[in-house]
Amino acid sequence: MPGRENLVRLLDGAAEAAVKNLFGLSRQQLTVLMSDFGQPAYRAGQLLDAMFRQRIASLEGVSTLPRGLRKVLLEEGWTIGRSRIVETFRSVDGTERYLVAGHDGQTVETVWMPGGDGAERGDDDAVDGEATRRATICVSSQVGCAVNCQFCLTAKLGLQRNLSAGEIAGQVIAVLERQAVQVGRDRINLVFMGMGEPFLNYDEFMAAVRLLVNEAGLAESRMTVSTSGIVPGILRLATEPVRPRLAISLNAPNDAIREAIMPITRKWKIDDVILAAGQLPLRPRERVTFEYVLLGGINDGLQHADELVALARKAPMPVKVNLIAWNPGPGIAYAMPAPEQVAAFQQRLIARGVPAFLRRPRGRDIYAACGQLKRTVSEIQPAISSQ
Ligand code: SF4
Repeated sequence: MPGRENLVRLLDGAAEAAVKNLFGLSRQQLTVLMSDFGQPAYRAGQLLDAMFRQRIASLEGVSTLPRGLRKVLLEEGWTIGRSRIVETFRSVDGTERYLVAGHDGQTVETVWMPGGDGAERGDDDAVDGEATRRATICVSSQVGCAVNCQFCLTAKLGLQRNLSAGEIAGQVIAVLERQAVQVGRDRINLVFMGMGEPFLNYDEFMAAVRLLVNEAGLAESRMTVSTSGIVPGILRLATEPVRPRLAISLNAPNDAIREAIMPITRKWKIDDVILAAGQLPLRPRERVTFEYVLLGGINDGLQHADELVALARKAPMPVKVNLIAWNPGPGIAYAMPAPEQVAAFQQRLIARGVPAFLRRPRGRDIYAACGQLKRTVSEIQPAISSQ
């Protein structure tokens, strides 16, 4: 019979304290653990339901488990070590930015955007017959980031460490709990576009996706992962039976500009990234998104729009473009694009037959907007604090 030793081996050498966290274990791992305690497999389901549907954050509160089992789990050091919101910043536009602490107290940023992220909604969205809440949660996958995009505040942190599957999924559950979201009724989009490059933490990221889909009941078709263009990650995503939509953080219409603002391009050229994305077996009406941050005077000319049109036309899959006017951040020497330039750029794409949407900037005043996530606690005053 598989025992805890097997489970520990499954968890790839993590420290004992982290291993004894129930939150983040898969159904299979929890089943092994329950079996080791002489418990039937359905105990794993009860635990998952408590953690992901009822959003119970302490083992003592899981009333579906027998008292004796809870006691023995606690005595052996097991906990529900879900990530905690330790600081909240609220924007005038309703956006909330959270500092969320993982098991070692390191924080990442998670953002709640009521009403969506301002880009067009999912292709499968219908008009609501009844009032439901819409919101988008922007989720981090690493503490800091190694990719070093020149326009991004997170890049200034460098990579501190990867998040575990539990820490990635835990951000979402903590925010759902804070916002009293009713999964199934409220329309919640998840975008894995916070701190970090998800495909440089692929296994934990995908394990979190599976937990959020299978155990929390969130729809994979409402999830989008954004990559800076890690080709092996895109190819792996193409083989996943359950996966988010794909967005490529392109930001330039050619390799020369891209290399100047995103050094990762030295490793994977635009053509290779687009070809890899073409491997995805798309769902009906699904498109791959090109994310394009407009930097004033760098990549926002009409000639750049025309080059982008050419890329979209030669892509082996249907694409759409999300435009983001660059958000200023301390210590980054780029210029915001002029509003008329942004409008002209978008119109050029549309006129040439490429669907193009302008993402509304959200939470600029609290550094919650795209490319601004850097745990900027000292640079602004918290509007509210929680926990
Ligand atoms: S834009 Fe994304 S991939 Fe690039 S440095 Fe920032 S967090 Fe990393």
